[in-house]
Amino acid sequence: MQRIKMARVLPILLAMLTSACTTVGKHDLDALNTIDFGPVEKLRVCLLVDEGITESSARTLFKKMSDELSIFNLEVEIPWIRQWKRPAFWMNGILEEVALRPLEPPCDRLMAVVGRNFGDFLISWFAPEILGAVETNTHTRGYVVGKTLTFNQLLQRPSDVAVHESYHMLGCIHGRSLRKCYPYILELKQIARASREEGNDFFPGISLDRQPITSREETDEIVRAAVGQSE
Ligand SMILES: [Zn+2]
Repeated sequence: MQRIKMARVLPILLAMLTSACTTVGKHDLDALNTIDFGPVEKLRVCLLVDEGITESSARTLFKKMSDELSIFNLEVEIPWIRQWKRPAFWMNGILEEVALRPLEPPCDRLMAVVGRNFGDFLISWFAPEILGAVETNTHTRGYVVGKTLTFNQLLQRPSDVAVHESYHMLGCIHGRSLRKCYPYILELKQIARASREEGNDFFPGISLDRQPITSREETDEIVRAAVGQSE
């Protein structure tokens, strides 16, 4: 009897731990209102969608992201959506495959929308699920799980995860408040605009030590080196 109870309680605890360690923080409206984020800039996110994810559900997911980032006068545009097959079961395998794809123009970011299978459902009872991630070498590639299937996802809906990952795509780290990230987003937008005016139409990536990366090719090279496949 006691055992059955524990089995039910355990996934709930794990799920709470997962959601607790994956927050980028709350908005600080006072700080937000003091910053002028300037004119609208576009962040072009290209999408790879897994089996079982429709194009329209992927668009809905990223519409939520666009709504969130409109606070900063940032507009998320989706230049293309391509079919893709989840290459691995675990996060590392998925992230590595996406990260090693070249960032082709006009994409500023490349995100995979991962489907769910029965294995995810089973494993979700034993281990914390990773429902989204962005690589930290350039912050230009990542994935979100785009479908609700498991219990953990009742706590973290795909759209919440997509919004969360959008902050990582802008180089924001986990914390209690988003306040520290506001000036950073503003700076990135300014670099993006200056680059574009010089004919380099790319919203910068962000390196591990949080320096802007202003070319797509450079992000490709950094990721390849990080994965140990540099030539
Ligand atoms: Zn996170």
